[in-house]
Amino acid sequence: MVLDMTDKNFIAVDIGGTKISIVLFRNDKIVNQVKLQTNPIDKPTTNKPKLIADNIINGILNLNASTDQIGIATTGVINDGSWSVLNKKILGEFNKFPLCNYIESKLNTPVFAISDTEAAALGEFKFGAGIKLSEFFYITVSTGVGGGMVLNNQLYRKSPNLAGAFGHMVIVQNGKLCGCGRKGCIEAYSSGTALKQVLEHSEYKDLSVKDILLTKSDQTWVIELIKEAAIYLSEGIVNVNSLLGIENFIIGGSIGLNENFFNEIKNQTSLITSDKINLKKAELKNNPEVFGCLAYSSVHCKGI
Ligand SMILES: [Zn+2]
Repeated sequence: MVLDMTDKNFIAVDIGGTKISIVLFRNDKIVNQVKLQTNPIDKPTTNKPKLIADNIINGILNLNASTDQIGIATTGVINDGSWSVLNKKILGEFNKFPLCNYIESKLNTPVFAISDTEAAALGEFKFGAGIKLSEFFYITVSTGVGGGMVLNNQLYRKSPNLAGAFGHMVIVQNGKLCGCGRKGCIEAYSSGTALKQVLEHSEYKDLSVKDILLTKSDQTWVIELIKEAAIYLSEGIVNVNSLLGIENFIIGGSIGLNENFFNEIKNQTSLITSDKINLKKAELKNNPEVFGCLAYSSVHCKGI
């Protein structure tokens, strides 16, 4: 393929709990995309991060495109290009795998990595629902519950911590056990995983939470399920508003974007507080993380 000299390629990778997306951007538009399973093998192994990285390298090579830089958004914690897990149930346990150096050495291309929630917040800020906002808090509700924030027109980062880890804010003292080891976190009540646990003993246990919320939305028990999850999440939103004075919240993720779930969060926050809270739906639907990588890349890299 012959590239115009003015064309700018950029490759972004999103490592999720179950799937990896590898996206080729050309002049800020997605022109090619590959999806892979995150877990290359089911069995536990000590070199899982290396297997995942090799899989990503193959996926990038299959795109057959030149790029000056590769950006990675991943679940877990990134510190100085090294990758560690937060929730051991998703990818097993590993600590400080040199993700950027490893891929860089195999592909001879500079690689950077940021956490997926930071990337999603940044993606919405530069290309989605946050374009006109100078500050907002981004919340994703899917398998887990995550958060990230933009303050004074900048993504707020505080390495080596994962600043904005909204899902692990405790809202019930001595409450349900969370995957992080603490009790009573929002994630233990409002995430897809938490809802799935409630459904474990129902006749719908083989359906995904997303599908149940979509197809059984007229049933009383589903309305109650959504209401309960939204109540806990809304307590967290009001806490963030009290602590930081942030009024704008962008809600994303496969469950957060469910119409009834989103509306119930609106309803519950208004019942908890009379303070002004604006809730918006995320606009980049399935891939705010790769757009966040694009925003973080050398092609853009303004105001980070
Ligand atoms: Zn937690």
